[in-house]
Order: sequence, then structure tokens, then C-alpha cells
Amino acid sequence: MQKRRTFIKKSGLALGGLSVLPHLAFKSNFQKQKLGVCLVGLGNYSENLLAPALQLTEHCELRGIVTGSPEKIPMWQRKHGISDGNVYNYDNMEGIANNADIDVIYIVLPTGLHSEYAIKAADTGKHVWCEKPMAKTAEECQAIINACTKNRVKLAIGYRMQHEPNTRKIIEWSKTKPFGAIEKVRADVGWNISNPPKTWRMDAELGGGLIYDVGVYCINALRYTTGMEPLTVTAHHENTRPEVYKEVEETTLFNLDFPNGIRTSGKTTAAENINMLRTECQNGWYELSPFQAYRGVKGKASDGTFLNTYIENQQARQMDDDALAIMENRPLMVSGVEGMKDIVIVEAINESARKGETIKIA
Ligand code: NAD
Repeated sequence: MQKRRTFIKKSGLALGGLSVLPHLAFKSNFQKQKLGVCLVGLGNYSENLLAPALQLTEHCELRGIVTGSPEKIPMWQRKHGISDGNVYNYDNMEGIANNADIDVIYIVLPTGLHSEYAIKAADTGKHVWCEKPMAKTAEECQAIINACTKNRVKLAIGYRMQHEPNTRKIIEWSKTKPFGAIEKVRADVGWNISNPPKTWRMDAELGGGLIYDVGVYCINALRYTTGMEPLTVTAHHENTRPEVYKEVEETTLFNLDFPNGIRTSGKTTAAENINMLRTECQNGWYELSPFQAYRGVKGKASDGTFLNTYIENQQARQMDDDALAIMENRPLMVSGVEGMKDIVIVEAINESARKGETIKIA
């Protein structure tokens, strides 16, 4: 709120004067000072990560909320200076179409609800940011992409790691190959969750399960580390606590084979603390550990290079990158097509585990 007031004061403009409809911004490349973001779903990630980050961003700011929990509204309005006219619920959010304060609708709901609300968001004519994993199925991902294309709005998936500078170095090395040809990559993420709360993350219908929530980081990392798309997958699930993990898997292990004989493996689990992305090359190796964390992503390479560039806030970097790309009418860093590729692989992993055989990836 402080930043927003300061900005308004400095610019000498009323808020209404700053905003134009996003489809006009997209078509005419009109330059705005800051984009207005509306968060849909005010759970942990919105409240504790995205909203604080939106107080640090230079190119966008929090201006609206969509919630089904009226009791949350006063705190959000007070803390973030959100006006009554910018508060919506799930039944009236189509009204955002006529709200010039809001340029981007950010879907931060349980995964199983992403496609329904991302499509609603696109139909308002506002740009769409959607949290990872993009959706439960590739079909749902395609429906989100189609809605954004039809409405001529931009779509970004909230893979914050791809905006993080040490990860960007790994992505750069997939092209420049400073240690020679990539031969093997391993991406493991997990936490020892002794007593998992009974939330949507344990509910298959709502998109729960480790492979969706955390496994997509491993899949995404194997793809950006190699700079390629996998050809086949072989996977299996493990469950040491069937009485707890009744609907969704506790652990998933998978091997993705890439072109040029590159072999990769991924592991995601709620039974062990692991967090490592390691690449073996013809003439050396490099790794990030942790490679998936809100802070402190760091690593090293076999020649002694340290990968330890610091940024204050990944979510602020992600949202600023995406806001600026929208204002400058450039492609967003993590597109819907990119988000969908991981979900195609999640579906292949689940099919492989179910059938007990290697699956070709479409
Ligand atoms: P959460 O459970 O804390 O919040 C979910 C919100 O959705 C709540 O406000 C809840 O009231 C609302 N909701 C609406 N309909 C619901 C329903 N039918 N069932 C359950 N909740 C419902 O979850 P979260 O951790 O904030 O995760 C939200 C999204 O953000 C997920 O897609 C998750 O994958 C993503 N996420 C991303 C990151 C990241 O680092 N990029 C981190 C955490 C979460």
C-alpha cells in the first residue's frame, strides 16, 4: 500500500487514469506505468508469498481479489488498500471485464480448479497468470490456451524457478554446454512430511498428489536442463503410508529418456528431505542444491564455479518479468504451451506406473 500511495503521489495521476483495457494494451502496445493484478484464491501462497511480493514489484501491483471467504476481505482490503469495487467472488468475477484497474488475473486455486477459473479469467479479456501445475490434464491445459488465444490475452504459468538467476544459468548452459555434451541429469525434490494436513493436496479430484504439486518442478528442470523434450518415460509410485496417502501417491520415481542418449531421473516424495538438480557432462558436472526453494537456490560446478547469485524475492522477479513482457508485448517467459508439456509428462508418468511399462511421450 505504501508503495502504491507513493507511486500515485509521484505520478500525480488518479488510478483510473493509469489503466487501459488489457486487450488495448496488447494490441496497441500502450505503455502503462504498472499493471493491476487481481489474485483469485486467498490461500497460503497468495497471502504469504504473492501479496508480499506485489509490494516489492516495480511493474505491477495488487489491486483486486476474488475470494469465496468473505471473512478474509477486511484484512486484505486494510493491508493492501483494495477498494470495495475491486473485491469479487467466484460467481461475479466476470465483472472484472469492466474494471479498468485490473489488467491481469492470477489463478492461485487448487490445481483441479485452475482450468475453470483460468478460462473465466481469459473470458474477461484480462491477461492470465496461472499457478503451477497448469492443470490436472493436458486437455484442461489446452482449453486454457484456447481461451487465452480466443480472447487475445497473454498467459503465463507461475514457474518461479525459471525466473531465478542461478536456474537461468543452468538454462543458458543447456545451450552453450560449457562442460561438453550433457549425459545424465537427476532432479529430486521432497520433504519428510510426517503428518500431512487433510487439505486439497490429499484429494485426487482437486489435483492433489506430490507428482502434481512438486514433481512438476523435477520434470520442468529435466526439460530446461537438457533444453530438450523427452521421448519415453518409465515410472513407478511408492507408498509407505497407505493409511495416510489413500488417494494420492506419497512418492513417485521416474526415468525420462531424451534424444542423444541423455538419461534422466526424477523423484518426488513426502517421505524424505531431498532437493538436488545434478547434471553430468562429458567434461564435468554442475548442480544446484536446493534447486527448488523460495530462497537460497545455490550450487557449484566441477571447475570451481559457484552458482550463488542472490535475488531478494523470486515471486517479485517473476511477476515483474511477466508484467514488463505484457507491457512491451513480448512473449512471456513460461507460456501455457510450456506448462502443458509438463502435464503431458505427468499423465505419461501415471500411465507408466499404472501399466508397469515404458510409455512413449506424445
Ligand atoms: P491453499 O490451500 O493454501 O489455498 C487455496 C485457496 O483456494 C484457499 O484460499 C481456498 O479457500 C481456495 N479454494 C477455493 N475453492 C476451493 C476448494 N474447492 N477446495 C479447496 N480450496 C478452495 O493452497 P496454496 O498453497 O495457496 O496453493 C494454491 C495454488 O498455488 C496451487 O496451484 C499451488 O500449486 C500453487 N502454489 C505454487 C507455489 C509456487 O512456488 N509457485 C507455491 C505454493 C502453491
